[in-house]
Amino acid sequence: MKTVGILGGMSIESTIDYIKLLNKYIKEFAGSAHSPKIALRSVDFAKIEKLQHENRWDELGSLLSNEAKYVEKGGADFLIIATNTMHKILPQIEKNLSIPVLHIATPTTQEIIKDGNKKVALLGTKFTMQEDFYKAKLVEANLEVITPSKEDQDEIHRVIYEELCKGVALDSSISKFQNIISNLTSKGAQGVILGCTEIGMIVKEAPIKIYDTTSLHVRDAARVALKC
Ligand code: GLU
Repeated sequence: MKTVGILGGMSIESTIDYIKLLNKYIKEFAGSAHSPKIALRSVDFAKIEKLQHENRWDELGSLLSNEAKYVEKGGADFLIIATNTMHKILPQIEKNLSIPVLHIATPTTQEIIKDGNKKVALLGTKFTMQEDFYKAKLVEANLEVITPSKEDQDEIHRVIYEELCKGVALDSSISKFQNIISNLTSKGAQGVILGCTEIGMIVKEAPIKIYDTTSLHVRDAARVALKC
């Protein structure tokens, strides 16, 4: 079995899910006596979040690049970065590594195509919903990507940073997300991408197929670790 490298802590809430899910998939694919081999490096999210909102992406690039190096030195055979947003600086991280990185959008794109869906809604941080670094991967695969209204994007972003990344799942936010997904469904979305690794904490059901990037990323990592 290969050792899965995880660059985590963004936030720790979803990193905990990554580890639990990795354990689940390794047992499912290899048998219940097995458990995942992991090299983990987890950062303090307060610092990351501050730099993001001050637009200091170059500093984030060198900081996370160093952290990824520690994961590699810790024996990882490949790396997963346990956040959609920080794939924005993937080129800087990859440049200094000699192990491969499994992009979080790849298994999601593959699953949408496998289902035959063409038009999908994307929920995530404003960085992920508004910028190109993430959407481009979906568009390259000929998928049509729709995002919520500006007002809904602001609210999703706020809930991610002020609640979910702090481990808080409020009923009021659950219903807000359900309304947002219903609106996107009425605009023709055939599936909804939970393009933030914490959204699964509050979105468990939807009128359309849910593509949870956390579980799809981890399942892909388990398959690569086991070569299956
Ligand atoms: N975990 C989140 C994501 O998947 C947001 C936190 C972050 O900014 O990294 O995008």
